Amino acid sequence: MGVDVQEVGRPRVPLWRFALLAAFALSSAVAALATIVPSTGAELLLAKAAVLEPVAIRLEEALLPAPTTYVREDRLQRGDTFNGLLARLAIGEADTGQLLRQRSLQLLRPGTVVTAEVRAGGDRDGELVWLAFLCGRDTAVRIERVGQSLVASEQRAQIETRGVLKSAVIRSSLFAAADTAGIPDAVAIQLTDVFGSDIDFHRELRQGDRFSVLYEMHSVDGRPLRSGRVLAAEFSNQGRKYRALRFADNYYAPDGKNMRKALLRSPLELSRVSSGFGMRMHPLHKAWRAHQGVDYAAPAGTRVRSVGDGVVEFAGRQGGYGNLVIVRHDSRISTFYAHLKALGRGIRSGARVAQGDTVGLVGQTGWATGPHLHYEFRVAGAARNPLSVPLPAGTPVARHDMDAFHARAQELAAQLDLLANGQVAALE
Ligand SMILES: [Zn+2]
Repeated sequence: MGVDVQEVGRPRVPLWRFALLAAFALSSAVAALATIVPSTGAELLLAKAAVLEPVAIRLEEALLPAPTTYVREDRLQRGDTFNGLLARLAIGEADTGQLLRQRSLQLLRPGTVVTAEVRAGGDRDGELVWLAFLCGRDTAVRIERVGQSLVASEQRAQIETRGVLKSAVIRSSLFAAADTAGIPDAVAIQLTDVFGSDIDFHRELRQGDRFSVLYEMHSVDGRPLRSGRVLAAEFSNQGRKYRALRFADNYYAPDGKNMRKALLRSPLELSRVSSGFGMRMHPLHKAWRAHQGVDYAAPAGTRVRSVGDGVVEFAGRQGGYGNLVIVRHDSRISTFYAHLKALGRGIRSGARVAQGDTVGLVGQTGWATGPHLHYEFRVAGAARNPLSVPLPAGTPVARHDMDAFHARAQELAAQLDLLANGQVAALE
């Protein structure tokens, strides 16, 4: 495809990686470019490759790539084993053995976030490309593949933070799209949080939905260490477009309205595990009309969260509902969470809950043939379809902050527009 590797590549990085990155950019409608401070060679190449020969790509082929590498981030938990962590990062056994012999792995402490790029599919499935983490305040550990061996380096270094702009089209699931675009899970999960009042990520995602996101990437020497906060994002869901801009620790729409509404659309958080169940393109839930509620298929034990602040009105066993929690949000609105395996800590009649608090775990108590959450949304006692009920909005940008917000919003929106009008459009 005519990419001159010599011209833009850094000589230390093997050729196949550039070929891979270039193939990525062309094959998955991904464009990445650094936006706040100068970018690495690889990203320049991505941006460049994305506009090189866009016309020659057939869309059907371009949009259905098997991702060839994944970027995963995970935290070493207290009581965790290295084996457990490496397995969660999807690193194969051959490399796990080699990694466990690396002295620098001993520098890992509970709470440390480890980022890894790992190959997927084919003979080299599970092969580590690189792994990095920060120990102490300014020492970065990086373990990189050199031929058959993994070579560790420690670097006393300054952490740089820059913005990374990426875009992806949803074909099967949010996480698959993020993988394809090389967007870390932590960023995908932040997106579900930012847009969680507008989109029910379990039921409303459709093939062809797309998103662009500007997020922080902390790096050392231009090499990624871990992702940071989402600064701006756009999500197109079933033709409706939502934009969110970070300002003063909150996310707002371009007009200054708070993205966070009084209630979340979904009582289930989206995760890699739950998305395999609930986020299918043809979800397993029953129609709302049939039984006055919504059923979310999810593995037993999945956390169920209160969709808004409120007071627990009922917590306990109730006939066909099995273990049931009812939360009253205001004088009119209440929500029901049924078939729970167990109730959340401190969940009893009269207890206060905040939005996102755990009310219980998915189970199959009462009249349930398999583990799922039965969720009801009631207004003045009558069941309503939670997807179609307008939700009260959170606090907008304060009047005296409006000028500062607009200035910042313009800056961030301009970045998103780059993708909206640029490389991605060119691919279509
Ligand atoms: Zn149900």
